[in-house]
Amino acid sequence: MPFSTLGLSDPLLRAIADAGYTTPSPIQSQAIPAVLDGHDVLAAAQTGTGKTAGFTLPILHRLSQKAYSSNRPVRVLILTPTRELAAQIGESVSKYGAHLHPRLKSEVVFGGVKINPQMMRLRGGVDILVATPGRLLDLVNQNAVKLDQVETLILDEADRMLDMGFIRDIRKIIALLPRKRQNLLFSATFSEDIRKLTTGLLVNPVKIEVAPRNTAAELVEQVAYLVNKANKTELLCHLIKENRWQQVLVFTTTKHGANRLTEKLNKVDIKAAAIHGNKSQGARTSALAGFKANEIRVLVATDVAARGIDINLLPHVVNFELPRAPEDYVHRIGRTGRAGEEGQAISLVSHDEYNFLRLVEKLIGKEIKREQIAGFEASAVAPPMPAEPPRRPRPSRNSNQLRRPGGSQSGNKPKAKSA
Ligand code: AMP
Repeated sequence: MPFSTLGLSDPLLRAIADAGYTTPSPIQSQAIPAVLDGHDVLAAAQTGTGKTAGFTLPILHRLSQKAYSSNRPVRVLILTPTRELAAQIGESVSKYGAHLHPRLKSEVVFGGVKINPQMMRLRGGVDILVATPGRLLDLVNQNAVKLDQVETLILDEADRMLDMGFIRDIRKIIALLPRKRQNLLFSATFSEDIRKLTTGLLVNPVKIEVAPRNTAAELVEQVAYLVNKANKTELLCHLIKENRWQQVLVFTTTKHGANRLTEKLNKVDIKAAAIHGNKSQGARTSALAGFKANEIRVLVATDVAARGIDINLLPHVVNFELPRAPEDYVHRIGRTGRAGEEGQAISLVSHDEYNFLRLVEKLIGKEIKREQIAGFEASAVAPPMPAEPPRRPRPSRNSNQLRRPGGSQSGNKPKAKSA
């Protein structure tokens, strides 16, 4: 899909061409039409996905379509955690808005530098203000800027802003904005605090989710154990016991599968708990707490449930089943090997999943070594499986990530997040 189909004006398309972009990244093809239509947006996306252009282009389009008053009140406010990010966003706004007539005015303000020059620059009014929260409040308190005409609020890297203790400042800023406005929130992770923030903030948001960059795929040791489907549980128990794994995150593709596996593990005295969408928040929280405290050895999770949980630095992640959407594999193994720590991602692959394995390899751009464990070798052909009761099919969930120009791009449609 070319950029020209997204509804952006010609001056913006020219700026996109100047930047050398040929195809919108997945987040751009989803966010741009949603923002243009005036929707609130909740996007799970990291740096590197093209998210900045994803929100900058449509807000420039919207602003440039409306006449502005001569005193130029702030109409778009972009909050971001650090001065580096603020500066980068400011550059993007200038770059993508280069061909607009009349030009929109934007400013970038952040703490750690003198406030006076910033106050001076805000005097003539600006259409778009990019700010870190603390400095913005200082400027408001000094009457250097008013926020009562803001039409669109963007919280970029919301999780980092909360990690940095900006929540109170953010809430104070929100209280200064008109009640009726458009809100866009971008965050790489979704902790409880982010959820709380989004609840009062976003109205019927369009939800967008794209995979992180593939860096995890490069850092993590990955191996596929080829095994007959019927022997997977036994192989998992064997691996846990033999290797004395104390903290393992295991992924299944279905909630039902997660429950069944958890029961089987508990039966052989491997303490396990499941987290998935059918579990209450309380059950999920206590499973997670038990896992973090090393009271639960195996946490069995579905992809969507795992997305919102905050655990870092896991030594072992096991794909009990390969995900049906290869991007989920990248999400899953991103749970291990973080921050340069050693991590291992193990996939138990049965005959019916060989194709999924190839799709994963295509996505991550490398081969995953295939091994067999003595006593659990896969037979040459798939043995017949005992009949299982029919299960309700789960809609497939796809997400994507930015490819640089020249890279291939799959056109998977996203699905709203639901845990
Ligand atoms: P971001 O995730 O917004 O930090 O963007 C990551 C990088 O991707 C930046 O260097 C952008 O210039 C670049 N970029 C953004 N959109 C595209 C696109 N559609 N095609 C190629 N590169 C892009």
